[in-house]
Amino acid sequence: MDYAKKFQVKPGDKVNLDKVDAGFKDQHKSKEDALELIETYNSKLKELQYLLYAENKHSLLICLQGRDAAGKDGTINHVLSTLNPQGCTVSGFKVPSAEEAAHDFLWRYHKAAPARGQVGIFNRSHYEDVLVVRVHSLVPEAIWSKRYDQINDFEKILHNNGTHILKFYLHIDADEQLKRFKKRIDDPQRHWKISESDYTERNYWNDYTSAFESAMEKCSTTHAPWFIIPSNHKWFRNLAISEIIVQTLESLQMKTPEPTVDITQIRKRYHEILQKEEKSKPK
Ligand code: ADP
Repeated sequence: MDYAKKFQVKPGDKVNLDKVDAGFKDQHKSKEDALELIETYNSKLKELQYLLYAENKHSLLICLQGRDAAGKDGTINHVLSTLNPQGCTVSGFKVPSAEEAAHDFLWRYHKAAPARGQVGIFNRSHYEDVLVVRVHSLVPEAIWSKRYDQINDFEKILHNNGTHILKFYLHIDADEQLKRFKKRIDDPQRHWKISESDYTERNYWNDYTSAFESAMEKCSTTHAPWFIIPSNHKWFRNLAISEIIVQTLESLQMKTPEPTVDITQIRKRYHEILQKEEKSKPK
């Protein structure tokens, strides 16, 4: 299935999240049914990351956004489980520190953007500055409303310098969020995950919907697309996201770099050393 095509917000599209089925799972009946495909993408992802690292030409930035309990952490666990940690960074963004707040809003995100050869994952991202900030009027509208263009410019700079950007909105519905809250209450191992703000933010459900819709309508571009990923089923979310990442990396047609040494000569030298050392070994 071409999930990139199916879930991508095309530039100029109107977004109506209430019309998107968060429980979509395509033709797959269950997790078990999709497991083989998930495994295939996992191993492809591993190979592609190796090439990304070896080639050291491009980088990949994955931005994860969603409501509380949408599964940002779970997605990171899934994607990371296949990646080599040496080629990967994860950055989470919370309420800005005093130092961060004293800079322009993009400062902390630009600093965390992945270097060449690296995969960078943003757990929340620069979009918080047109989401929570807009919903709670943390800055005047005259300021946040200009940020969409600023974000587009920022992403263009990254893209023009070799960073490929994928932005995933993890779409769960209100019933699923409540179910996940209950699971957290019922399981002492998850109590640490409960925060007061999860419950207060739920009261702003519709305001967040509008803010997410605006962000995706104004900032889904060909070079930094938004994808709305049905995420009620965690395994389907993982499957769709893995497929889109694999497809994006495959499109880069990466190759291992040419050797910087003459391999024939090096092989000869290796055998010379081997012979010499064999000879000098005590009989
Ligand atoms: P998470 O939910 O990501 O696991 P927290 O529970 O600590 O982590 O939540 C982080 C909080 O920081 C969220 O409520 C989020 O809206 C807030 N936040 C992130 N970026 C900003 C920002 N730029 N301005 C204000 N609040 C922000």
